[in-house]
Formats: sequence, structure tokens, C-alpha cells
Amino acid sequence: MNDLQNFIGGEFIAPISNNYLDNFNPATNERLNRIPNSNAKDVALAVKTAKQASSDWQKLTLADRIEWLDKIANAMEEKKGEIARLESLDTGKPITLATNVDATRSITNFRFFAQYCQSLEEMNFTMEDATNFVVRKPVGVVGLITPWNLPLYLLTWKIAPALAMGNTIVAKPSELTPLTANFFAEILHEIGFPSGVFNLVHGLGLDTGQPILEHPEIKAISFTGGTATGKIVAATASPMFKKISLELGGKNATIICADADIDMAVSGAVKAAFTNSGQVCLCGSRILVDEKIYEKFLERFSKKVSKIKIGRPEDPNTEYGSVISNQHLEKILSYIQLAKQEGGTIVAGGNRITEIDGQTTNGCFLEPTIITGLSINSRCATEEIFGPVVTIHSFSDESEAITMANNTDYGLSGSVWTADENRGKEIASKIDSGVIWVNTWLHRDLRTPFGGVKNSGVGREGGIWSINFFSELSNVCVKHD
Ligand code: NDP
Repeated sequence: MNDLQNFIGGEFIAPISNNYLDNFNPATNERLNRIPNSNAKDVALAVKTAKQASSDWQKLTLADRIEWLDKIANAMEEKKGEIARLESLDTGKPITLATNVDATRSITNFRFFAQYCQSLEEMNFTMEDATNFVVRKPVGVVGLITPWNLPLYLLTWKIAPALAMGNTIVAKPSELTPLTANFFAEILHEIGFPSGVFNLVHGLGLDTGQPILEHPEIKAISFTGGTATGKIVAATASPMFKKISLELGGKNATIICADADIDMAVSGAVKAAFTNSGQVCLCGSRILVDEKIYEKFLERFSKKVSKIKIGRPEDPNTEYGSVISNQHLEKILSYIQLAKQEGGTIVAGGNRITEIDGQTTNGCFLEPTIITGLSINSRCATEEIFGPVVTIHSFSDESEAITMANNTDYGLSGSVWTADENRGKEIASKIDSGVIWVNTWLHRDLRTPFGGVKNSGVGREGGIWSINFFSELSNVCVKHD
């Protein structure tokens, strides 16, 4: 595979320093290619280019920009298979997941915002003697920084509304997963997308990400990633009065009530815990089960987990692939060790997988792991592990379940499983999280607000919230005669 280059001003160009990083396939630990490790000079060039492209992009009507979003979606649709293949290669996730979730949603992000923006209404507020006209303007050059777990899915979730609102972009994907962002740039190049409107700089967080945060001409930062990095983003960008959106980590609870349909709850809890090897910010990594059904649930849950098809990512039957890197795998294993020290019992999993389909593998595969017997206050039950590890706890009544669910610094998502919808809604309303599902998980309507409370983030994405983030609202008050 060829080395990647940055995409600046519509051209693929080498980093100014000529410094490169190796990019690996985590399912084999083989080197795929090299990517630029860009620095402040590359970022400055990208920002300058984005700024120059601003006026022409802003001159287009909203309808023209919507047309571009549709053109991008059409071109991506034609290359959907390749998007999925590259995403799977870079992340170690199963090709079926990469196709059905990553590639599909990346395209949907453009289609959704294209359609959504068509229904944007002008806002006017009439007084007795005056009318207020709310004018929506672009923010300017925006910086988009994204993580490795859902690479193109999360990047396009930001790109589409940013473009629709007339902004120009400097984007940095995770250095662990640069392939689909690069492929997206190739698609833009192919369809003749206006030069300089979308710019891509590859590299490390400190070398490439930090200069994006610090650049005075970048007026807004939309960041998705870990809470520790989110603090750095806020500390750097807030004193510069940039707009910031922070979508951060989670430690989400899956609450199983005694009246739940047990088969549905087990399936839902397995999916919530182990989709993408537990590397989704929304994953339900703590399962809270009513003590009346605890044993029954644990038995069925363990049985279902034992049947997950672990395999090579390229095999369409594979349901569960590798984690993102050796370093991440070691971090997850250290939490499993910690769980033992904290008094937990490893009911299933807990080990690195060294053989796949009868063949030795060097890939970053880890068994789906179930841990019981931990205190709800333990580190393993309160800190984000971000891997295929779930802790299971029992509760005696609803109020205890709610207290346990809220017993973490995070507040991103959660799910409640019960036969009684009203009870589900009632419990959901008492959990301090941005998103709670009842009898489902990761069921998304893109018009709804998405984001976290507490240490899970600041701001909301989705529908009008993304549109408002990527625009500046001015009020023009006209006094009548
Ligand atoms: P990180 O916070 O480590 O990295 C996210 C991005 O920030 C990467 O592109 C990273 O670059 C970059 N970065 C790192 N340091 C800096 C810096 N000083 N300045 C600017 N950019 C920087 O997160 P991960 O990639 O490890 O992703 C996993 C985390 O993301 C989990 O905590 C997960 O919960 C969270 N997440 C949240 C979601 C949400 O919607 N709330 C959705 C998906 C994930 P590099 O990779 O090169 O270090």
C-alpha cells in the first residue's frame, strides 16, 4: 500500500518536515504503509489554504452546498465496498460491521444533512414596533479532530454540517486510522470538489492536533475522543474564545429489570457490550441486573457471549475482530489484572487470543471478557476501559439501580430493559446521561441531540445542534416606522 500524503488545497502533498509514521493493521500487526507526521507548519499551510477558499465557498447558496453534499454521498456510495475494506484493514473490525455500520453511516451523514438543511427555516421574531431577523453565518475555518474507533463515521458526522453551513475545514483523524479519511479526500479530488475547502493533515495528537487547537485562524474545534484529551482541548481553545464541542468518553450502564423479556435483554446487552470489541463510546460496559433474575441472566448472557463468532476481519461471517493496537490491548489486559486484585471473578475470557480459525495470529485479539463480584465503586466498574470487558452487578430495587448507574464521573449513554415502557422512561429520566435507550441500543435518529453530561462532554451534535455549532447566529433588529 502506498504512503499517504496530506490533502491541502486539493492536492496530495508531502509533509514539510518529510517525517512519516508507520501505520499498522491491528489484526495482523503488519505494517500497511506510512503516513505524514505533520507539524505546525503543515497545519499553518492547511489553515491558510482553507481561509483562502472560504470566500468562494461562502458565496455559494445553501442549495448549492446541499447539492455538493449529495454529490459526495453519491460518489461514496459507488465506493462503499472500498470504504468498508479500508476501515476494516485499519481498525481490525469485521468487514460486515465496517460495511453495515461505518461505511453506511458515513454516507448517511451526508444524505441526512443534505435533506435536513433543506428544511431549515428562517427565524424571525416580531415585536410591536420591530422585527428581529436571525441571520445564520459560517464560523470560518473549523478544526475537526476524531478518534480511531469509528474513523470515517465520526469524521463525516462533522464534515457534512460544517460544509453545509459554509465553513472550510482542517481535519485530523487518529494516526492509528488514517486510511478512510485519505480515501475520502481521494473521492473529493475525483469529483472536482472545490480546492481548499476540505484539508486533511495526518499525524500525532501533540505534533498535529495541538497546532490545530492553537491556530488563531481556526474559529471552532469539534473534537471527539477521550476525556483526558478533551481537557487539553478545552484548556487550549477556551481562552482563545473558540467555539468548542467535546464528545468524550463513557462508562455506560445497561439496566436489566426483572420484568424484561430475557432473550431480548440478553441479546441487547451482548450487542451493547461487545460491538466493535467494546470500542464504541456508547458501549454498555457495566450491566446492572435485578437480583431476582441475576443468575438466569448471567447464565444466558455467558452462553450467548461464548457463541460470538471471533475471526479474521475480512471473513464476512466474523462478528468480532481485533482491538486497535498492541498498546491498547495491554491497557485492557492491565484492567483485567486489576479486576482480579479488586476481588472480581473472570467468568469468561480475560486472555489474548493467539489462534484464529486454527492458525496462529500476531493480531491484537482479546477474548470477550465477563467479570462479576466487583464493587460498583471499584476502578474497573467506574473507569472507561474501552475494550471487550463487561462487569456485571446486581441491584435490589429501582432506586439502587439508578444510584449505581450514576456512580461514575461519566454521563454519555445507557440502556434500560423492561416490559413496562413507562417504567423504562421513568428510570431513564433519572440517569445522568445524554442518551438513554429503552429496550434497544444504538438506535439513532440523526435529528436528535447527541452528547454527554459530566466528564462525557460539552455540547450536542445532531440535527439543529450540529447546524448551530457550525454557524454563527446574528440578530438583525429592524425598527418599523
Ligand atoms: P484520544 O483522545 O486519544 O484521541 C482523539 C483524537 O485527538 C486523535 O485524533 C488524537 O490524535 C487527537 N489528540 C491527542 N492529543 C491531542 C492534542 N494534544 N491536541 C489535539 N488533538 C489531540 O482518543 P482515542 O483516539 O483513544 O479514542 C477513544 C476515546 O474516544 C474513548 O475515550 C471514547 O469513549 C471516545 N469517543 C467518544 C465518542 C463520543 O461521541 N462521545 C465517540 C467515539 C469515541 P492521535 O490519535 O494521533 O493521538
